[in-house]
Formats: sequence, structure tokens, C-alpha cells
Amino acid sequence: MKIMKFGGTSVGKPERMHQVKDLITRDNERKIIVLSALSGTTNALVGIGEALAEGKKDLAKERIDTLHAHYQEFYKALLESEAGRKKAEKIIKEHFEFLNIILKISFNEAINRDILAQGELLSTKLFYTLLQEKDIPAIFLPALEYMSIDENSEPEVAKISDRLKAILKNYDKDALFITQGYICKNHRNEVDNLKRGGSDYTASLIGAAIKASVVEIWTDIDGMHNNDPRVVDKTRPIAQLSFDEAAELAYFGAKILHPASIWPAQTYNIPVKLLNTMQPEAPGTTITAEETGKGVKAIAAKDGIIAVKIKSSRMLLAYGFLRKVFEIFEKYKTPIDMITTSEVAVSVTIDDDTHLKEIIMELEKFGNTEIDYKQTIVCVAGNMIAENTGMIKEVVVALQDFPVRMVSYGGSRNNVSILVDTKYKNEALQRLNDELFQW
Ligand code: ASP
Ligand code: MG
Repeated sequence: MKIMKFGGTSVGKPERMHQVKDLITRDNERKIIVLSALSGTTNALVGIGEALAEGKKDLAKERIDTLHAHYQEFYKALLESEAGRKKAEKIIKEHFEFLNIILKISFNEAINRDILAQGELLSTKLFYTLLQEKDIPAIFLPALEYMSIDENSEPEVAKISDRLKAILKNYDKDALFITQGYICKNHRNEVDNLKRGGSDYTASLIGAAIKASVVEIWTDIDGMHNNDPRVVDKTRPIAQLSFDEAAELAYFGAKILHPASIWPAQTYNIPVKLLNTMQPEAPGTTITAEETGKGVKAIAAKDGIIAVKIKSSRMLLAYGFLRKVFEIFEKYKTPIDMITTSEVAVSVTIDDDTHLKEIIMELEKFGNTEIDYKQTIVCVAGNMIAENTGMIKEVVVALQDFPVRMVSYGGSRNNVSILVDTKYKNEALQRLNDELFQW
């Protein structure tokens, strides 16, 4: 059984949805289709929630109406039969009535999550209606019936697996299931989600839960590229990656795959394929446990990084200092990405500044702190790159004209991370590309 996940751009236009329908019916293998919301919808829903949070009901109403108009257009181009259009009209009416009711009640975080869930509910229902119109047998599989997270927002894999297996066993061997990415229930049994971009995570979790043969992530690019194709000339898709390499790249900014979606597939050894809806025959990228080839495979960059330096003579020859520092970040549930240390100072990077003020206040107890905003982590990833002695020289040569704030080398065999001011990012990526890849 395989999982096929289609992202927002793959379902964002009526003709694309038709393409998705063709792609999922090419063979009779049993499959679960995971859909994102139509592109732009989740952002619009976030905007509606923000307006409501600020008490701007008129603005929220305006945003709801704009989104509503978009769906009115969409379904007419998607469906041609009277019956199909009637069904779609009803679906859209229901969901927008819900949004309009929210305007009248008092707003809170749980309601906001309900708002955010509307995108995937709409996309899957409209797609299901399209399949019905084309007489393609399929089963609608509501994610809210099986996908759940615990009180720490961690997915409950064992429970998800039990629930899914209990549902799936009632259907034929060649059944086609349609389900929502991103949305889930939380430990309070409220509607919740797996965070932005979480539909990939849904697909990987389902793959792990039912031990699928493969998890296919269909997007609008032909696999993970060796560098950011929006910034750098001459990039190319990478055919093979190991889970570890893919995790580094996904985490450090290769937007094509949600970073959390690696671990479920890796834990249960389910291959992940990154494929292009617009170019379905392209081989894309295959991610497996196997380590293939040595050397640098790709460069990725993650913006919005903040570097925090803690300088303290108390660190000199002391043990337990780092623990105390890390405990502060832990207390505020703020993950650290990069670390570099000297005898009297430690620098760490974070990308979540929600509790930066509190963190700095507590760190000041240990020493002086310095903060650098607008930093970018440039990550050079590959297999056994630390053993590749020439590589670090090439990295240094490529970056010789830029002030480098931090370097992390040797933390794993798969990555070297370099922190630079974001203003140098594009040029740094291009120079690294020219230096590290010859073609
Ligand atoms: N629709 C959600 C988002 O835009 C989830 C996803 O597309 O993966 O974040
Ligand atoms: Mg995505």
C-alpha cells in the first residue's frame, strides 16, 4: 500500500486537481491520498484568525468573503455535472457558514485551530466530489478520526496505527482513500494541526502507521535540488539521499519537505519519494536508509536565525556550565540549532524568538549576552563529508569574502553549517555552488 501526498500547488488549480486524479488512478495499488489545502488557503485562514484575534471583525469578514469568492470560481471550473456542482456548492456553503458563525462568537485559540482546519477539509471534499463525478470509487477518510497528538503536540503513532488499521480492514484490497493532511485532534479532543507545512508529516506518519511500501510527496519541483533553485543558477535534482542527509537538508531550509516528516519514515524504514506533479515521469528524489556516494550532495539555507552569545569567565575550567545554559532554552521550549564554544563563551542559534526576552534575562545571570538578528544558516550536506579533506578548503575559499559568524563542523558526518548575515546569503549560496559542484 502506498501513500501519495499532494501539496497546495498540486491541488491549487482546477486543472491541477484533474492531473492529480489521473496520477492516482494510473494503477490499482491500494493507496491513501493525502491532500493539502489549495495553495493560498491556509495563509488566508491565518489572516482571518489574526484579524479576529485583533478584534477586527470587518477585516475578518472581508477576508472570508474574498476566500469564499475564490472557491465559488474554483468549483465551477473543477466540476461539470449538475450533480457535482450542487454537491460542491453545498460543501462550500457549509464551510463558509461555519467561518461566518465564528465572526459572531468570542474568539480563542481553539477556534483559531478550527479555522485553520477548513482548508484541508475543503480541498479533500472537493476532490472527492471530482472523483465521484468521474465514477472513480474512493473512500473518504477523515483525518480527525485517526490522526492525534498528545499533550506535548507529539503524534501518537501507536494509536494512529491502531485506529487506521481498524478502519482500513473494512475495505477492498484495491481501495483508494482520500484524507486530509495537516489536521488532527489534540489530547483535549479539539481540532488541532501538525504545524505549517504539516501535510508531509501526515503522509509520513500514515506511512509509518500502516507500514506503507512508499510515501510519495508530490509537489511542483522535480525533487530536492542540490541548492536553492530560486537563488542559484544551475541546480539539479538529487536522485538519492539517505534519511540523515534528507533530514539535514529539510531542516536547513530545503522547503520541499517538512523536516519532521523524516523521522516516522526513517524509524519504520519506509522509502520517501519526492516527485513533481507537473512532470510525473521525472525520477525526482528517493530517500532511503541506504547511504549512497561520498561527498557533498547539497547546500541549503535557513533564514530567520538569531545568534545568542553568552560570555562568562565562570565558564573557564568549569563543568556544568553548558547544562545550565541549555536548561534555560529547555525551560522556554526553544530548540537550539547550532552551537559553537570557546573556553569563555558559547554561541547558539535559535529560530523561534517567542521567549527571547525571558531567555536573555535568565542568561544574563551567567554572563554577558550578545544577540545577532537576521542570520542565515548555510548547510552543506552530504555523506561522510567530514572525511572528505578537500571540502572544508573549498567552503573556506567560497566564503572568503564574507564575515562568517559561526561554523559547525564534525557534529555529524552529514553536515557542515555556517552562519552568515542574511544579506550575504544569496551570494554565499552561489559561490559555494560554484566551488563545490563542478558541471
Ligand atoms: N495547508 C497547510 C499549510 O499551508 C499544510 C500543508 O500544506 O502542508 O501549512
Ligand atoms: Mg509543503
